Amino acid sequence: MNYRQLQNLTLGILGGGQLGRMTALAAHQLGIKVHVFTDQPQAPAREVTSCHTIASYHDLSALQEFARQVHYITYEFENIPTTGLELLLQQGTIIRPAPDVLAVSQDRVAEKTLASRLGISVTDFVAINSLPQLEQELANHTQQGTLPCILKTRNMGYDGKGQVRITQFEQAEYAWKTVQQMPAILESVVDFVQEVSIITARSVSGDIKHFPLVTNIHRQHILAETRVPAIVDISVRQQAEQAAERLVRELNLVGLLSVEFFVTREQKLVFNEMAPRPHNSGHWTQDFCTTSQFEQLVRAVCGWPLGSVAYRPAKMLNLLGQDMQQLPQLLQNPEAKVHLYGKKDAKTGRKMGHVNLPG
Ligand code: AMP
Repeated sequence: MNYRQLQNLTLGILGGGQLGRMTALAAHQLGIKVHVFTDQPQAPAREVTSCHTIASYHDLSALQEFARQVHYITYEFENIPTTGLELLLQQGTIIRPAPDVLAVSQDRVAEKTLASRLGISVTDFVAINSLPQLEQELANHTQQGTLPCILKTRNMGYDGKGQVRITQFEQAEYAWKTVQQMPAILESVVDFVQEVSIITARSVSGDIKHFPLVTNIHRQHILAETRVPAIVDISVRQQAEQAAERLVRELNLVGLLSVEFFVTREQKLVFNEMAPRPHNSGHWTQDFCTTSQFEQLVRAVCGWPLGSVAYRPAKMLNLLGQDMQQLPQLLQNPEAKVHLYGKKDAKTGRKMGHVNLPG
């Protein structure tokens, strides 16, 4: 790689949320221009980038025009239709991670099937396509005494949306309505003591670096706090790194893979879900790791070597709409690194920013 290859690059980011905004800021620091494609005129990433396309993710001609103006494309959220991306790929656009990786992560059944095939422990699950099938499965669970279960939509779910805990057979119809009668997954409930996640980067040359395993604390299904590093047996950390490594290698992924797991009482790791993009549980890296997750993504996508993941213990607190009143008080702490996303309406449950603190 010579210096000319490092200059005058434009990175295209699909999605204009806070993850896109922070990726754009990291790219700018490396002298890389950013072009954001979003369907939201008020998207947080727009404020920090001079080039944007506001169009639907289904608008193939807008996608093609966007692709012509950038050197590499990445994405910051998962619910992007892959058909348009496959078309761009066929036309020679470099998309990292590749659209087939995105397709697996969009489908809870596909990602659990993959994890299981790679020898990564997953909870018992079955794909559900109709109410009678759900009733049949619930009847079996009732007979075997293995309720409760969780029914989730296969696609488009996040922050616990589109999922319901089923404690008795009679809830079948209600549960089926909750997932809007769409293809779903029925999972056995994991009796966990902790939720943890890992973010792994893989470069074009196949180099792999893991950010440390972290503990995540959720409130009402939304991440509230991340503690770094996770306090777990060393074997749990090793299991997480092994699992993430198997996944990125199998997927031939270039970019980031974020994987969420449950830790059981016996200190065994159970895969929950994955996302081929930066993750809320990695925001602490901005202030307490040599390379932030956003910089690492930009480096990987643009074909640069990965940065060091040396870190200091830290914690990250999410600032939701209802937490914003605490902001003046948080700012009194000189060690608190506050990051705000520039969103106007502080609605309850809406992610407005986060604070990174020493652990
Ligand atoms: P998810 O959207 O799959 O990340 O689920 C949101 C949250 O629901 C998780 O962070 C867990 O707290 C809980 N959850 C999801 N699936 C399970 C499961 N199979 N067993 C126990 N808790 C679960």
